Amino acid sequence: MQQPICTRCTELEAEIERLSRDPVTGLAGRAVFDQMIGLEFSRAKRTGASLGVLMLDLDHFKAVNDALGHLEGDKVLARVGRVLRASVRGSDTAARYGGEEFVVLVSATSPEGLRVLAERIRKRIERVGLATDPAPYTVSIGCACIHPGDKEGLQIVERADAALYTAKETGRNKVCMAEGAE
Ligand code: GH3
Ligand code: MG
Ligand code: MG
Repeated sequence: MQQPICTRCTELEAEIERLSRDPVTGLAGRAVFDQMIGLEFSRAKRTGASLGVLMLDLDHFKAVNDALGHLEGDKVLARVGRVLRASVRGSDTAARYGGEEFVVLVSATSPEGLRVLAERIRKRIERVGLATDPAPYTVSIGCACIHPGDKEGLQIVERADAALYTAKETGRNKVCMAEGAE
């Protein structure tokens, strides 16, 4: 590995790494995700590889906070973060998108592969329980894949978000595929 130019560089790199992570879940923050989808979108366009996005939103999370308090709610978020880290490949990026919303950027996957991954994550999150409240926590997930006509990665995120909305509207604790990604 290349030597840093000075010891201060190593410290700065560690600081950048720390600031890039969401402190509650240890996942990448939104800014890192935005960078990564830009890079992966350009790569997918160049190589013709597939690219998928999962948008996740915890179900009725306000009620969890109201019942258990914000700190216990944070523990649930941290556990969801661990589930996501354990469920994705090193080449994928799992990030906290905001509040109780998460996003996963999945490279080189078919729509079917995306659905299988989303279902696995959904089932694992159902088993996330706190000692103080073993009730299952559930998540709704929207999935979308790159389309040949896409001009930017944000378009995949928008379709995943619309599919997430459908999952919420049609009962929660489920996975929905965006149109054209069945
Ligand atoms: P839905 O199933 O429709 O998504 O319902 P919801 O209650 O999850 O959705 P809503 O958007 O009404 O509430 C989101 C809640 O997420 C409200 C807020 O208290 C909680 N939340 C957002 N960020 C954090 C956080 O950093 N920590 C904790 N503990 N809770 C958070
Ligand atoms: Mg939400
Ligand atoms: Mg929610």
